[in-house]
Amino acid sequence: MKLLFVTSEMHPLAKTGGLGDVSHALPLALHHEGLDVRVLLPGYRSVLSQLKQVEPVCTLDALAALQPQARLLSAQLPGTRLPLFVLDCPALYDRPGTPYQSPAGEDWEDNPQRFGVLCHAAAWLGGPRSTLPWHPDVVHCNDWQAGLVPALFKLQEGSGARTVTTIHNLAFQGNFDPAWVSRLELPAYSFHMHGVEFYGRLSFLKAGINYADKITTVSPRYAQEIQTPAFGCGLEGLLQHRRGDLSGILNGIDSAWNPGRDPALPARFDARHLIPGKAQNKALLQRALGLKQDPAVPLLGMVTRLTYQKGIDLLLEALPELMRLPLQLAILGSGEAEMERRLLTAGTTYPARLSVTRAFDENLSHRIIAGSDLFLMPSRFEPCGLAQMYAMAYGTPPVARSTGGLADTITDCTPETLSDKTATGFLFENPDAAALVTAVRRALETYAVKKSWRPLQRSGMTRDFSWSRAARQYLQVYQTL
Ligand code: ADP
Repeated sequence: MKLLFVTSEMHPLAKTGGLGDVSHALPLALHHEGLDVRVLLPGYRSVLSQLKQVEPVCTLDALAALQPQARLLSAQLPGTRLPLFVLDCPALYDRPGTPYQSPAGEDWEDNPQRFGVLCHAAAWLGGPRSTLPWHPDVVHCNDWQAGLVPALFKLQEGSGARTVTTIHNLAFQGNFDPAWVSRLELPAYSFHMHGVEFYGRLSFLKAGINYADKITTVSPRYAQEIQTPAFGCGLEGLLQHRRGDLSGILNGIDSAWNPGRDPALPARFDARHLIPGKAQNKALLQRALGLKQDPAVPLLGMVTRLTYQKGIDLLLEALPELMRLPLQLAILGSGEAEMERRLLTAGTTYPARLSVTRAFDENLSHRIIAGSDLFLMPSRFEPCGLAQMYAMAYGTPPVARSTGGLADTITDCTPETLSDKTATGFLFENPDAAALVTAVRRALETYAVKKSWRPLQRSGMTRDFSWSRAARQYLQVYQTL
């Protein structure tokens, strides 16, 4: 079986969040399982500058109406033998900023074109017009940026590969002005509520859900949640309608996230040799962040986008109460300007106890996850979440809201789960500041009892969060097609 994996980001070439991690690890895991998989991604500036030995494959004349000039390049993911197709179109992708936004933090106005063209390139590769010898049997489309691919197969190509759409986050839908329907060469008749139309706009994600042969999302709990009005973002009806083709597959974590051989850490450790290494990471982290150097005080870490989804408003509301507890808090994040500003202000109010770093810093993220005693994730919703799994693997039990993948990956600490050594963290139900503070108090009480705490850390560190488990589940989905 041949698989084309279409994505708008891929660590380490381009990453803004979990999709970048998944698009790195899942194709690699599938490659290791023996699948003939190739990844298609846009040739952003950061992608082309990191790739070695890039070969031109063809020019995409078929897309000429959509953009000035596009070429397909082939390369390999650095340090691996995983083949990549890179869509080279400097007019669309050779820009500063993130894959989606300008350096000023604004979405690029031509995003529908930037990702529409990506979808057209994928549809060409998997459709009857392709002149390449390599033809995918299945195209795996990730998030709204690849959402038009299944629609193009059904509406334009007339035939082509089978498709899987994976929803990494239903809140990002790629909804645009209806003028894009004709500009992106979608047939006018597809613009209706059973097609690509969503409340008067062209919706890339709705197209992806509507026309895909199979739909997956990144945890079983989220697969259920998105069929309800509270989490469905208006698409719950369609998702209920397609529930027979919808499944939830938990993400894994990349094997590079291993505290025993993580080059970002000043000291390495593992489940059997935990204490001195972890303590050293904590001491150096406290020093680097300007926190009081105290080995006894529990240090809570957060590495996150600063958005409503991540419950940053709940944290801000809980902060005065949290700061009355004997703890320190280290936050690394970037995102909405108002949340950044309020957190930075709070950081100046409690200088030795609250550190706020406004940045996207891969190296520091590893050191916070390793050096903290607890990891905070008060998300309002969380399709899967990776950071809580990294934290468990690094002996840093999470305190998290019981939703989506957080509920599926964390075993709440109760007298029963403590005694049978399955507890890995602390969950709270209600999305409010009081519930968050109560869960932190509960975690601090357990932290104080070292004969409970060490087994809790070790049980998270020895969980199987491997991608090979997830890759086998995806293979089963492809095989049903
Ligand atoms: P999401 O994809 O919703 O942002 P996930 O938990 O699935 O959330 O994945 C987030 C990924 O991005 C993790 O690898 C996390 O460590 C990383 N990350 C988020 N914010 C930052 C940051 N400011 N600096 C470094 N890494 C970050």
